[in-house]
Amino acid sequence: MEQHDFDYSNMKDHDANHNAIEHPENSEEFASLTVNKGVAQPPMTNPYLKLKARPRRRNITAAEYVEGIRKGNVTMLGQAVTLVESQLPEHQALAQEVIEKCLPFTGNSKRIGITGVPGAGKSTSIDVFGLHVINRGGKLAVLAIDPSSELTKGSILGDKTRMEKLSVQKDAFIRPSPSAGSLGGVARKTRETIVLCEAAGYDNIFVETVGVGQSETAVHSMVDFFLLIQLAGTGDELQGIKRGIMEMADGIVINKCDGDNVERAKLAAAQFRSALHLFPMPPSGWSPKVLTYSGYYELGIDEVWQMIDEYFEFVRKNGYFEERRRQQEKYWMYETINEQLKRHFYTNPVIEEMLAAKKQMVLSARQSSFVAASDVLDYYFKNVKI
Ligand code: GDP
Repeated sequence: MEQHDFDYSNMKDHDANHNAIEHPENSEEFASLTVNKGVAQPPMTNPYLKLKARPRRRNITAAEYVEGIRKGNVTMLGQAVTLVESQLPEHQALAQEVIEKCLPFTGNSKRIGITGVPGAGKSTSIDVFGLHVINRGGKLAVLAIDPSSELTKGSILGDKTRMEKLSVQKDAFIRPSPSAGSLGGVARKTRETIVLCEAAGYDNIFVETVGVGQSETAVHSMVDFFLLIQLAGTGDELQGIKRGIMEMADGIVINKCDGDNVERAKLAAAQFRSALHLFPMPPSGWSPKVLTYSGYYELGIDEVWQMIDEYFEFVRKNGYFEERRRQQEKYWMYETINEQLKRHFYTNPVIEEMLAAKKQMVLSARQSSFVAASDVLDYYFKNVKI
């Protein structure tokens, strides 16, 4: 077919009849075709706009981050948290420097862990608990550890509009769970974020997690008080809760104690109280309390907070507050070592390749898991430089 070069840029006229004549394919040889001219696309950018060259953003130094954080600059704090969460080695190095420099300004907050199954009312409750704290003159950071992030990179905690009242408060800093990596990695990032928030003057830190397993241990290892939110209703409240989670709780609160649920909530509270009697006295010397409240109708919030205040007074007096924090430091040292060792091992390209091959051998029953594991480990210890 003959080629027709046609300059579309000359098309100024939008008259359809006129276009029908003007288009090259409207000539005799394409008699059965009528091609209308389209409307010429305007340029994507404004050709009249003269942009001034924007200065390149200078890299912020660790000292500048720390200064910004210490002044309570929320943007700087947010950026520093992003650094902490980043997987890039250069970000990690800078983040560690910032954390190190912030450390002398930390420790002066009440760290409170909050857990409960999805639907227990965590966001509703944190919203009102948070306002309570702020109305008393406190500054609050709400952080989270989402155990679902390990598998799905999505979140149980972060996907809805949550904490509407808190999110507009200038004294509240809300940060969703770090989303990448293993639960241990996610938890460590939240632990480091606590350091930054405390240096920025947040004297109350809430760490939220979903009450579904492992993540409670992680949260428990970074807070002073662990609050378990429960629901009443099914009559077999105690069965679904892992003993370990109850043992960790410093306070158990039965939410949704409102309307025709009041009786059931009270009954559940009584059941929890008697169940707790069977547990040994926790190392804090504090017997966990069980209360009922309604986050939605804001009933019983003062009482919950009174319990938390009493706890802090109690453990500060008997020395357990300091003791628990020291134990947590030790825990995080080991956690960090474990995580780094694992990362060093699993990200080594030769090991990755070996593991892929060994996995197939094990899956097809050509080698036992123990032999496969020791082969890979032997190689690692003999050949990979640490
Ligand atoms: P989360 O999944 O634990 O964060 O729970 P949400 O805070 O999202 O609450 C789950 C549902 O329970 C929502 O529909 C809330 O409105 C409702 N809810 C939360 N607290 C209360 C309460 O105190 N009383 C009643 N009746 N409903 C509540």
